[in-house]
Amino acid sequence: MADTTTNAGVGSKTGNLLLDSLPEGDFRLIEPKIKHVELQKHQILSMQGEAVQHLYFPTSGLVSCRASGSQGELIEIHAVGREGLVEPAAILTSIAAVTAEVQIEGAAYRIDVDELCGLIRQTGELPRALLKYAYSLAVRMVQATKCAMFHTVKQRLVLWLLLAHRAHGNVIPCTHQSIAEALGARRASITLVLESLVQKGIIERSRGRITIANRGDLEEASCECFQLIKAGLEIDLECELLAKQSLVVTKHP
Ligand SMILES: [Zn+2]
Repeated sequence: MADTTTNAGVGSKTGNLLLDSLPEGDFRLIEPKIKHVELQKHQILSMQGEAVQHLYFPTSGLVSCRASGSQGELIEIHAVGREGLVEPAAILTSIAAVTAEVQIEGAAYRIDVDELCGLIRQTGELPRALLKYAYSLAVRMVQATKCAMFHTVKQRLVLWLLLAHRAHGNVIPCTHQSIAEALGARRASITLVLESLVQKGIIERSRGRITIANRGDLEEASCECFQLIKAGLEIDLECELLAKQSLVVTKHP
């Protein structure tokens, strides 16, 4: 993995929405601790059940967070892009809840999990930002579970495209097979849905990538899950403990 020797630069925007939401004072504390790294396709950032040393704030690309099925197959639980943090649960346990694999190559800011735990005790808004993200992840997983059980492959694929667009950008490097694996669907079904979206002018396909051509129509084609997930990402947390900045985070030994 490539690892630059430069940090974010005090006061600069990193490209990660969670880091960039921090006030200047908090960012000045975290900036010396984060290192810019490249994310290579298929790179494993964490293994489910194993110790976690580093956490990643992606600035581009997409990280697929997966859990093992009974037959050893990996099922995508959620994906993380520039809006979030890979493996936030490790802040509390140092153990990976999921296997995190880079699905779309990109870059991230990496931090040692112990360094981040230390910063949580020193900063004002970082705990709130992390809890807000954890809340949005919980909402996303609830909706994704509901979507997988009750909604069609087309609705699930549209949701995946909308979340990939939000997390990564307008051009999404992916294949029919990689989407099928992420959704646990048949490749042929994915191809049929993508063809219908192309015919409606909602997306454009080229070799190894999908471009969102009409974001509004893509949202129109989605189930209610996207709006609920979006609301979870944008919620303004109300919490007395946070307001008093008396949050205490204790790691298990
Ligand atoms: Zn749905």
